[in-house]
Amino acid sequence: MAQTINISSHFDSGNISVISADSCADIQLEINKDAHSDFYQWFHYRLQSTAGVEHVMRIMNAANAAYIEGWENYQAVASYDRNTWFRVDSDYVNGELIIRHTPEQSSVFYAYFAPYSYERHLDLLQGAQESSLCRLEHLGETLDGRDMTVAVIGESDPSKKAVWIIARQHPGESMAEWFAEGVLGRLLDEDDPVSKKLLQSCTFYVVANMNPDGSVRGHLRTNAVGANLNREWLDATMNKCPEVYLVREKMLETKVELFLDIHGDEAIAHNFLAGCEGIPSFDERHKSKQDSFKASFLKASPDFQVEHGYPEDEPKQANLSMASTWVGEQFHCLSYTLEMPFKDNDDLPDPTFGWSAERSYRLGESVLLPILEVVSNY
Ligand code: ZN
Repeated sequence: MAQTINISSHFDSGNISVISADSCADIQLEINKDAHSDFYQWFHYRLQSTAGVEHVMRIMNAANAAYIEGWENYQAVASYDRNTWFRVDSDYVNGELIIRHTPEQSSVFYAYFAPYSYERHLDLLQGAQESSLCRLEHLGETLDGRDMTVAVIGESDPSKKAVWIIARQHPGESMAEWFAEGVLGRLLDEDDPVSKKLLQSCTFYVVANMNPDGSVRGHLRTNAVGANLNREWLDATMNKCPEVYLVREKMLETKVELFLDIHGDEAIAHNFLAGCEGIPSFDERHKSKQDSFKASFLKASPDFQVEHGYPEDEPKQANLSMASTWVGEQFHCLSYTLEMPFKDNDDLPDPTFGWSAERSYRLGESVLLPILEVVSNY
């Protein structure tokens, strides 16, 4: 009997095109570009085939993906239950990402990183609202008609400091929303002393998914019309990027005391921060806040480090169309981009799971301590 192989991606954040799937030994695939854009790297698909047989899946257009350094030493993730995502043998050879896997069951999902679905996003918000500490505020709609929601934790009292955390401007960076879930989980734990202390002096504004359209569409980097949200902060418009426009308006209303913009980095196998050294108003006070945040984060989580990361901007050379630089300059406040790996944290490697949803969640919990450090001392 002829073996049948079926590959599908018509589900939340699905992305793949099948070139040929006639033989388990040679399945040829391509990742689709983000709409109205040349970016691509996020993939997510389901394979139904024969268990116990090795499948060789070749992503033929890997060489022109957004970050080819991302494929070096990268292992794709797979799952049978769509809950536990484990790493599978992957190699970047001759411009192709080759995934080799012998499924134990006939149906298996593969992805670039553990997906975070839109349904889970809605569950996260509804669950947060169950706490008396949290209320949800509707900011407006995306171009595909999805809600932009900010979770407000603590009293909206103008005497309190506004701490803003946004995640997933780049929708393929799903680890960012796992991180946001960790932030919310700890903040809403009424027995947690760090959260209790923080909420005495701060109000938190958390946007767990800045780019729901791109997330559902299976994009790496852009929204429904191809806008890279993290290059739109200087002059955001409702036509091109309502996601940024609406959040920016709310920030101008609340002001911002401390800001974190949560991302994933394709190439660097570490967790790191990128600061505001290049913004026009950067000064000793800003530097001292940055330094104390980093020092406290190092103590709060051994998954964080400061040796590997992006080179600092030269003075006054920052690109102010990015969220963290725009906020840092607009509000003269501590403002960081936080990057997590798609691969693993090479300082604390985990060959089975690599960097994962669970570890992103834990890092989100641990970031509250450095926030407390900085808001208490300045
Ligand atoms: Zn990013």
